[in-house]
Parts: sequence; structure tokens; C-alpha cells
Amino acid sequence: MMRPSSDTSAPRVVVVVGGGLTGWMSAAYLRRVLRRLGSPVTLVAGAGTPAPGALATRPVFTRFLRGFAIDEAIFMRRCGATYALANRYDDWFEAGAGHWHPYGECGPRIDGLDIFHPWLKERLEGGTAGPYADYAPQTHMAAAGLGPAPDTGGSSVTEAGSYGYHLDRAALVRFFREIALSEGVRAVPGRAVSAETGPLGDVAAIAVEGGARIAGDIFVDCTGEAAFLIGGTLGEAWIEDPAAGACDRLASVSRPPDPARPSFAAYAGTREGWTQRLPLAGRTEIALAYRAELTSQEDAEAALRGLAGAGPDGAVRHRVLRAGRRRAPWLRNVVGIGGSVRESGPLGGFEVDLIPCALEAFVEHLPRGEGVAILRQGYARRMADLADEASGAVALHFALGRRPEPFWAAARRAPLPDALADRLDLYEIGGRVAVPEARLFGESDHYRLLAGADLLPRRAFAPVDLADPRGLGTFLAGIRARAEQLAGTMAPHALLLERLHGPVETPRPDARLAPANRAATGPAALRRTPEGARVADLVAALGQPFGYERSVKASAGTLQSDRFLMSLHRTSLGPEPGPVLKGLAAKLGLGPAERAEAAAHIAEADLLHLGYEDGPSGPLYKLYVEWSARTDAAWAREDEGEGEPLLVHRAYKWDPLRPGPAIVTLYHWPRVRGPDEIAARLARIGAGEAGWGEAGPRVLGVAQALLELARASGRGAPHYLEAREAPGPRLSYDLNLYACGLTVGAAENLLLAAFADLGVPGAEAAAILAERRDEALGHVAGGVGRDGRPFLTLYSGVAAGSER
Ligand SMILES: Cc1cc2nc3c(=O)[nH]c(=O)nc-3n(C[C@H](O)[C@H](O)[C@H](O)COP(=O)(O)OP(=O)(O)OC[C@H]3O[C@@H](n4cnc5c(N)ncnc54)[C@H](O)[C@@H]3O)c2cc1C
Repeated sequence: MMRPSSDTSAPRVVVVVGGGLTGWMSAAYLRRVLRRLGSPVTLVAGAGTPAPGALATRPVFTRFLRGFAIDEAIFMRRCGATYALANRYDDWFEAGAGHWHPYGECGPRIDGLDIFHPWLKERLEGGTAGPYADYAPQTHMAAAGLGPAPDTGGSSVTEAGSYGYHLDRAALVRFFREIALSEGVRAVPGRAVSAETGPLGDVAAIAVEGGARIAGDIFVDCTGEAAFLIGGTLGEAWIEDPAAGACDRLASVSRPPDPARPSFAAYAGTREGWTQRLPLAGRTEIALAYRAELTSQEDAEAALRGLAGAGPDGAVRHRVLRAGRRRAPWLRNVVGIGGSVRESGPLGGFEVDLIPCALEAFVEHLPRGEGVAILRQGYARRMADLADEASGAVALHFALGRRPEPFWAAARRAPLPDALADRLDLYEIGGRVAVPEARLFGESDHYRLLAGADLLPRRAFAPVDLADPRGLGTFLAGIRARAEQLAGTMAPHALLLERLHGPVETPRPDARLAPANRAATGPAALRRTPEGARVADLVAALGQPFGYERSVKASAGTLQSDRFLMSLHRTSLGPEPGPVLKGLAAKLGLGPAERAEAAAHIAEADLLHLGYEDGPSGPLYKLYVEWSARTDAAWAREDEGEGEPLLVHRAYKWDPLRPGPAIVTLYHWPRVRGPDEIAARLARIGAGEAGWGEAGPRVLGVAQALLELARASGRGAPHYLEAREAPGPRLSYDLNLYACGLTVGAAENLLLAAFADLGVPGAEAAAILAERRDEALGHVAGGVGRDGRPFLTLYSGVAAGSER
């Protein structure tokens, strides 16, 4: 039963609109936090793939992930991430000058005061204090190509979470989508097309294309610029922010990864505006931000290509930037989060960090009875402070500059918000920046920026200025030396990344790919055989993002380890996915009838997987069509109860060297959820007539043990499928454990025992499992193979290949 007014009690039914980064993060977080209230969370997501690109995050986001108990290694692998220890600015405030902006504190606080104050006093008195940023270990780590941790174990930097990440934007959206679904968020596909309001003006329900009506108590508008509810239905105005809006266009391009493996984002001022280089595991994203009235799109593209070393083939993406906010971020029973209520552009990496800040603030102001209007006001004040912090930080990057070009001169002309101007006046005269309770851009951040611009107060802050200066130089030198020493104990960033993501791919001289696609060649593991390389080349040549996972199969005393699957979304095949699929399948030798059948299916399915395995009787190619959206939707409808098993994959497997009909394997989800239901299903099949045959005691025991691990992980739910081939004895289960956040290492001993049970020599099994120990534990499939013998296959380490 819906209540007509937003002024009563706790939100029981939460509806999130928009399936971008904010939508999936919000749905996952709210579902987890509101679980104890029994609040269901529904997310309405239009079709479409997440926009490509890269994002930089700051320590706020790192700490948010920890609060969510997300395993960092898995997260980084899945999101193609590198560590972000600092930002480097070159030619920014003036040509030829540069400065660091490290994350984390610049030295300890002395008597509750930032070390900036003694540093400034020493500096004004002619001492050799060096740059202020040098008092943060992160500056030294970033400058020396180091990561935030030593060779083994953690560090004070990792403990405090004083670093951020550079992330593949689309992979990050997919990651949170998966978390949200595993938390039990119900996903409703389709765009919201209209909203119903109740007598008091609250939103009562939204209508989704296709006809569904979704009612709720509170609606979270995550529709980005569209602002479907807060701007559209409720008409809340968007207020431009000229101080943060120096740039209104962004051109970006993907390039191969930087061999130096930097642990910082590099920004540089240019004639047209500024550039940003974000290093990802598999590529570098380079962007140029500029102003349309001063630079045309063609000129910006040419400038970007020149500085990125991108030839005419490299696809440049263009995007309009906005800076501003909605007057009220929470109106009636609609809360806007993300781009629907605020934007200040990609400078500084505030976009993602603001999402957890908004979610935490919302939960702190959660209505639990009367007085909702007061809570809304409190929330609005908090969000306004955060938005001021972020847009003030962006504005300062322009206001402090001295570059003469029209872009920079125009950027300086934008009036600063009064509070920021007052803060700068006080700084100049009194020597201190007062920013109470800042979360995103605090006092020390201001000093880094102001000192970076060489804009120093006339006098040090009075309490320090009046103190005895003796020994100050030695004291400061000691702190700086400690920062350097700590940095010296860290491992190279390249080494930490190689452990996470494997070696960096360098283009092979004989690569059969167009130069623009060279970064998309995928890892060397896919190219160990000519047949495997053929699949990898075909997928890479599409120039689209893909995922890949390796597998190892044990059966009849042998271990096959040259096996992999590469996965593409249907939309990556272009507007006509059928013919593209047919072309790929034909090049791999799949027969015409099966090609046509698979091409017909892909029109309604979501994913295409292409694979290769070097089997005992020779190479085998595989093509799977997967209906993931309808499976997700059915998974989310827990209330539906039992129904017919749902077809999830239709797979074709064929020997390219021996023409003949392909084997067709069907993978169904028998609508069982959670470890208990899966265990009961496995036992029921075992007790049935066909049962697990000879495989029974061996591979079934592994499944039960894995379910125990899944339970103990306390994380997302395992997913279960059954595979059958007709005719033939094949009957196997497939346990998908990615959501449980485990590594292969967690299951190493039980897999070793199971492989030994299947007759595999112990040393061989131990070597292969040790090599994959740190990879995400993906699927484990087991049962009776098509040869009637028991088998067990481990799929691990799904990773993003790239890209554009
Ligand atoms: C095309 C694009 C490219 C970007 N590239 C970068 C980049 O390279 N670097 C960077 O730092 N930032 C980038 N951003 C900005 C940044 O990623 C976002 O501002 C930030 O992530 C906030 O995301 P969001 O989820 O609030 O909004 P969006 O990312 O805009 O997501 C909004 C979602 O809501 C959906 N939606 C809209 N209307 C409806 C409706 N009626 N019903 C259902 N769903 C609806 C949209 O389809 C979309 O999925 C980009 C944004 C866009 C739109």
C-alpha cells in the first residue's frame, strides 16, 4: 500500500531510475543498507551499454569500497584499474611550471595544525623547505613509479586508504551491476516514460516502456543529464556554475598502455584548454577539455591526435560537458544522485567520489517518522557543501593561473563563489584556509593547490608565526626524509599491476591487426596456439571491449589448460549483430545451418562468447549465445516461485579440422537460488535415475565444498546452471562463484584433491593452480562429459580486454 505523502515514515519500497554508474551503485548500496528494514529495491534501466572512457577516483571512493567489503584485487582486475597516488600538473598555472597534488596528508599535524604553517614560516624566512607536496610520501611514490604497497603485505598508505584508482568506466558500471543483482536488487528493463503523481505531488509510480508500472515510496533519480523525475516530473531548475564551467567540450581517445606504468593522473595545460592522461591496466585514456566558442571540434580533434600520437584511425569520442547543480537535490519523495543533480566535469576526479558521499548522506537523513522536511533540508545543506567543495576546487584550478591564452584568460574571468573568494582573502592575509568538515577537498588540498600555484600568504598563520622558530628547518627536513624513506619501501607500480593483471601486452611485429586495434589484442595467454590466436584476432579486430576467462579441465587423468572464452555484448557487434556473428562463425568453420541459427538468436540475446580449447582429440571452437538480461530479470523476481528451467546459453562446439554438425549444448537455470537450494538440486539429480553416474562421489563432493565456501564468504550468491547435450550422456552443473569474491587460492586444496581423484598427476595440477591462485574463482563445472567420463573444469580470472 503506498502512502500519499512523503512526510510520514521510512521508505519501504525504493525505486532507482537509471542504469548508469550512479544507478547501480545506489541500488547496491541502498539494498544492503536498507535490508534490515526489509525494503525491496527496484532499478529501472533503459537498454544500452555503459559509456566508454576512464574515471579517476579519490580516497573517499577507496574507503567506500572497503565499507562494502569488496576484495580490492578482484575489483581492480575487473575494472582494469591502476592505483592513483597523486595528480601531476604541468604547464598549468604557467607554461614550463609543474606541481604534484598527492592524495593523503602532507606530513603529520602538529598541535592540530597542518604542516603547511611551519613549512610556510620556514619558507618565508628563507629556509630550504622544498615544495610543500614533498611532505607526502605519495608524491615520492608517484614520481618514482612506485605503488602504494611493498612487495608483500600492506603499508600505512594502504591501511589508511589514502589513494584512489584509475578505472575503466564501463567495467565499473558492470561491476556494480553485478553486485547490485547479487544483493537482490530487482532489475526492470526499459526506460521510464511517464510518472504518476499523487494528490500531494509525490511521485506514486512510474510507467516503463513495455507497459510495466513500478510503484514506490521513494524514487532515486539516477538518470544523469535527463533528470527524468527531479528535473522532468518535478521541474526542479538546473543552475549553471560558470566558475567550474571553463570547459564545455571533451574529446577523448584510447591509446596503448604507458610502459612506465604511472601511478598518477597527468594533467597539462595547453593552448586550447587542458589534457588528462589516465593510465588503465590495458590502455591509456587521453582527453582534451576545451571551450567550443574558442576551439572547433575539428581543431580539438587534431590537437588531441597530435599530442596522443593517435593516427587518423584512432576513434576520437566527443562529449558536451556541463557544470551546475539542481537547486534542491531532494524534492518531495524524489532524491537525485549523480549527474541528475550535479556535475562539475572530469577535472580532479570528484564525480565518482560524490556518489558514496550522497548515498551516505541520504541514509543519515533517512525518514523514519515525522519531520521529513527537516531531514530533506539537512540533506540539501550537506549536499550543497559537498558540491561547493568540488566545484570550488575545480574553479580554483583556473582562477589561480597566469597563462595568457584566450581559454585561460576567459576561465579566470568567471566570478568565484563569495565563500571561496572570502576564504582566499583570509588565506592571503591570515595565512590559513578554514574549511570545516571537508570530505572531498580539505584544508591540506587547498594548500597543495595554492602552493603549487606559488600563491603564498604574506605571513604565516599567527600561532605558528609567533612561536619560537629554532629547529624548524631540522624538524621539517626530518619529516620530508621520513616521507621519502617510506616511499623507498614500496614496490614498483608495474610489479603490483603485473601481479594483478598479468604482463603488459606489447604489440607483436607480425600483428595482423589494424594499428587502431593494437591495444585490443588481449593477453598472451589467448595466443599460445595458432587456432587460439585466430579467435583472439577475430575478436580484437572488432575494436570493441571484451571480457575473457581461462579455464582448466581435468578428465581421465589429463589436464587441458589451453582453453579460454572471450565475451562480447551484442551491441559490440554493431546495429546488425546477426550478420557479424555469421561472419565470425564462418571464419572459424562453423557450418551454415548452425551459423544461421545462432545469428537468429543473437537478435534477442545479450552476449556472444567465442572460445577455443585444445582438447585431447584436437582443437575445438565454441560459440555461445547468452540471454543474460532475461535471466537477471527472472533471478530478481524471487516472488515468482518455481517455473520451467530457463535457457541461459545455447552453445555450439565444433572441430574446425573435421567438418560435420556441431555439438549443441544447452545450459538451463532450473530457478534454484542460494547454496541450500543448489545443494538440494545436486543431491536430487544424484538420487535420480541417470544421476551423476561415475562422476557422482567425486565431482559432487567438490560442488558441495564450493557451496560451503560460498556460504562462508558471506558475499553474493552463487549461480547455478545445468548443461545437457542431446543425444549423449553429457550432464553437468556449472557453479558461477564470481559474486562470492573468492580467489582460486581459496579453493586450491579441494580442487587439487578433486583433480587427483580424476587421475591427474599431482605436480601438474599443483603447478597450474598455483599459477592461477590469485585469480577470481569464476565457474566450476563438473559432471559427466560427452565421452561418458567424469570431468571437472575451473574457469577463473575474468578480465576486461580492450578496447577503443
Ligand atoms: C556519454 C557519456 C560519456 C562520459 N564519459 C566520461 C568520461 O570519459 N570521463 C568522465 O570522467 N566522465 C564521463 N562521463 C560523465 C560521468 O561518467 C557521469 O557524469 C557520472 O558517471 C555520473 O553518472 P550517472 O550514472 O549519474 O549518469 P549517466 O552516466 O548519464 O547515466 C544515466 C543513466 O540513466 C539512463 N536513463 C536516462 N533516462 C532514463 C529513463 N527515462 N529511464 C531509464 N533510464 C534512463 C541512461 O540511459 C543512463 O544509463 C560521461 C557521461 C556520458 C553521458
